[in-house]
Amino acid sequence: MNFKIKMSFLTQTLTKSSQINKYLIPTSSRTISSLNKFSLNKIQNLKLSTMSSKNVTINATHADNETAKGTIEKLNDDAKYLLPLYGRPNVIFNHGEGVYLYDTAERKYLDFASGIAVNSLGHNNPIIVNAIKEQIPKIIHVSNLYHNENPAKLAKLIVESLEKKGTFADGAKVFFGNSGTEANEAAIKFARRYGKTISENKNVILSFNHAFHGRSLGALSATPNPKYQKPFSPLLPGFEYSPYNDIEAAKKNINENVCGVIVEVVQGEGGLTPANKEFIQYLRKRCDEVNALLIVDEIQTGVGRTGKLFAHQYYDITPDIFTLAKPLGGGIPIGATIMTEKVAKTIKPGDHGTTFGGNSLATHVGAAVFETINKPQFLAEIREKGEYLKKSLVEATKGSKLVKEVRGLGLMIGVGLDEKVTPAAVADVCRQQGLLVITCGMNTLRLLPPLIVTKEQIDVAVGIIAKSIKYLEDKL
Ligand code: PLP
Repeated sequence: MNFKIKMSFLTQTLTKSSQINKYLIPTSSRTISSLNKFSLNKIQNLKLSTMSSKNVTINATHADNETAKGTIEKLNDDAKYLLPLYGRPNVIFNHGEGVYLYDTAERKYLDFASGIAVNSLGHNNPIIVNAIKEQIPKIIHVSNLYHNENPAKLAKLIVESLEKKGTFADGAKVFFGNSGTEANEAAIKFARRYGKTISENKNVILSFNHAFHGRSLGALSATPNPKYQKPFSPLLPGFEYSPYNDIEAAKKNINENVCGVIVEVVQGEGGLTPANKEFIQYLRKRCDEVNALLIVDEIQTGVGRTGKLFAHQYYDITPDIFTLAKPLGGGIPIGATIMTEKVAKTIKPGDHGTTFGGNSLATHVGAAVFETINKPQFLAEIREKGEYLKKSLVEATKGSKLVKEVRGLGLMIGVGLDEKVTPAAVADVCRQQGLLVITCGMNTLRLLPPLIVTKEQIDVAVGIIAKSIKYLEDKL
């Protein structure tokens, strides 16, 4: 028999068992084309609704093979037209409400992925829906050739939210783009521009191992992951890397030729690792010594995700540039590069630009999202719920041989797993019980619930995660 059964939830765990792996495709290659190998009549007869291990019986209320009628045919058809870049489960989501998503079989999922940290206010939030409705009939886009009130309104909200201290003592300026990558691309260009005002050789951008800054060639050049970089080499010259949380290496690598140091204070894709305070404070000090710009990538950590408006605020430093995107538009694409006056003064009209960036709709919605999140009470609740999530996960997985560590900040939490299990396997088992979670580097399960999540919903999610891990542990 020459087909591979796509029961990755059952099998990914047994990564060392070649006997079982013969029949499985790895989750990372779960593309729709693989479904073609997956005989429909055979799989539809498989009953996966309960999955049992030694001690755990799982009620697979959202089993892969019990999705809406026609899903597989529809996905196969879609695959004719979409570039197959992503490994996705065979489920089609078509609406959401609060922290829940619904698939075409009307199955309800607790969404702890939030569109990769984008849907911070959840789905169908009236604040976002009303902002969109308000703006659309007025104007959606005028381009940056003309003025519109909205970009400046959001820029003002962001700049006024910054404490007037450190590098922000003189204020700040905002450049709007459309995504995280573009926000970082602008930051990299602005650092180069700044470097050139000092010396032609001051052009090196330094980033850190396990960083993720985006997929354009500039942002990718600052993302030292061979998986992402190698297929697209040669990358841009003038990019160097240093180990994360390593002060000695930073001291050596940040020299007079460095114009910008870009860092995530909690690495997102890299494995949910928060930086040490001393490390980030040292970067600030060293950048000042060699007159380099400190760029904090807050694409994933920014706008409340960690329980402070910006995660760099935990570190008692102010950056020269920081970048925002994901949650800022509540799902409407937007990116922002925020820089000090010192940096802004070196940028001249025409140096950089964008057609869509700062679009009237995105910035209007962005203002509504930003105002909602930037409230002391809202942020305090995120910190409290984040602590609760972390503590509950630690308690619920106590004694597990598969859980190495629970780490993260605010509602950006990672469960570091033993190499015997892949986070994708845990995510698969969770999804088939109606919980969406995602994965990231260092064999980590990544939890990014909407910031409006409640403690009761956290309890449900933690219960499913603990049970799924236990189930897989029993199978080892
Ligand atoms: N920087 C960080 C820290 C990210 O997490 C991401 C995306 O995951 C990016 C940059 C790239 O953002 P985008 O995918 O919006 O281009």
